[in-house]
Amino acid sequence: MTRRLQVVGDDRSFTITGVDSDEWEGMRDPCPTCGSRGFEHVSARGGYYGVRDGTVVLRSDVWDADRAIRTRCRACGTVLHKHPAFDLLFDHGPDEP
Ligand SMILES: [Zn+2]
Repeated sequence: MTRRLQVVGDDRSFTITGVDSDEWEGMRDPCPTCGSRGFEHVSARGGYYGVRDGTVVLRSDVWDADRAIRTRCRACGTVLHKHPAFDLLFDHGPDEP
């Protein structure tokens, strides 16, 4: 399934897309298009940071903010998952490598 969102700025508007394949459950599944098991995966990671004994530490017990942003088959290029934010974070057109 592909979602299209229109982003309106001060002087322009453009479309960003989100993709969720109905035929792919996650990294353990092969690509439904070609059967490959190699993927390019981008995620966003964050959480609660603090300082302990002078060292910055991520407290993973407080908030796990790890989110998948895009997963694409390395063999055939099929986009299996894409959060619409990918188009805002990276300077490519929708679904471009
Ligand atoms: Zn593939």
